[in-house]
Amino acid sequence: ESQLDLERIRADFPILHQVDDENNLLVYLDNGASSQRPKSVIDCLTDVYQRYYANVHRGAHRLSGESTDLFEVARKATQRFLNAASENEVIFTSGTTMGINLVARSWGDANLQTGDEILLTEMEHHSNLVPWHQLAQRTGAVIKAIPITEDGQLDLDFLPKLLTERTKMVALAAVSNVLGTINPVGRVVEAAHAVGAKVLVDAAQAVPHEAIDVQRWDADFVAFSGHKMLGPSGVGVLYGKESILDEMPPFLGGGSMIDIVEIDRFTPAMLPAKFEAGTPPIADAIAMTPAIEYLEKVGLSAILQHEQSLAAYAHQLLADVPGLRILGPDVTKKAGIVSFVIDGLAASDIATFLDGRGVAVREGHHCTLPLHKKLGISASVRASFYLYNTREEVEKLADAVRTSVDFFG
Ligand code: PMP
Repeated sequence: ESQLDLERIRADFPILHQVDDENNLLVYLDNGASSQRPKSVIDCLTDVYQRYYANVHRGAHRLSGESTDLFEVARKATQRFLNAASENEVIFTSGTTMGINLVARSWGDANLQTGDEILLTEMEHHSNLVPWHQLAQRTGAVIKAIPITEDGQLDLDFLPKLLTERTKMVALAAVSNVLGTINPVGRVVEAAHAVGAKVLVDAAQAVPHEAIDVQRWDADFVAFSGHKMLGPSGVGVLYGKESILDEMPPFLGGGSMIDIVEIDRFTPAMLPAKFEAGTPPIADAIAMTPAIEYLEKVGLSAILQHEQSLAAYAHQLLADVPGLRILGPDVTKKAGIVSFVIDGLAASDIATFLDGRGVAVREGHHCTLPLHKKLGISASVRASFYLYNTREEVEKLADAVRTSVDFFG
């Protein structure tokens, strides 16, 4: 049973209390795409704009000082949240996608050569595939992938063969955004480091739902997004080990990331400014503080446990829907993500039908075309849970799915 006080939690999320034209209360099960925000985060954004908004790290005036202080408070909160060794290891980005692109460009271009290998997995999001494809195109590096098992777990039996002295980067999701699989990041990091490869963890689906300790993972880079963890859209974080970030050239050039500029040359700033060119997402980064505080207050282990119990309940209720197949491993090995297909029914029809009942899910390939190809399907329906979802909502989902099968079948 869940340890969360759902009534209290739900009261903090204004958007959850709206009804549609048919008077259905919103059942929001699209948290894998983006979460909702508690009032503390919304109020923080309003407060910044009403009381202390100004550009950061620039002005000599009072407002700029206040904005800068709060921007740095958010960096400190993030450092603590991740258990990073230094604030210099926390780079504000626009999201997971930008963080991965930053590493592929800056670290990748400086360190990869023709014939070097980049090891990915078959369950990666396009954000953790395409930047590496582009890097391979630029450098002549070779892409390989850890295959998945029938039930949607990484097949680590292949790891010894796939990891060679040519492997320079291993990039993997901590949690699959489709299968929900929780991957053994620590084991992969250890094996990768043993051959001298670096590891980037796409933690977009992990940081919002489980306590992350980047030092325990020992990963070299970790990327995630604010909007999936109760924070604003437009802001994200790239964690990198300080010794590695120090050696890397800047990614984007512009204001803030320099030490000295002359007409024909520049020297870069120290960390973390070196990787924060231009005006950052100021209010959005500042509002990461209340988002993190909210998650810490509720407690990430309780959040994960709650979501897993909802996923288990969904598995149970959906089990006997005719023709329905849930993707990924059994509930003990995954986070609160339940993706499924139904024989003979289009995922888009199911999702539209569910929307008509107030149930918001995602359908399509979820930016994982290679995974869907591997599974032999073109699209799936995904319900993804968060701390404010309830057992009643899982029941509404299951009822609506059942009704949709009757309706279309
Ligand atoms: N990786 C994974 C596993 C994701 O689920 C997502 C978001 N769907 C991303 C990367 C990309 O995140 P963003 O769009 O915030 O950059």
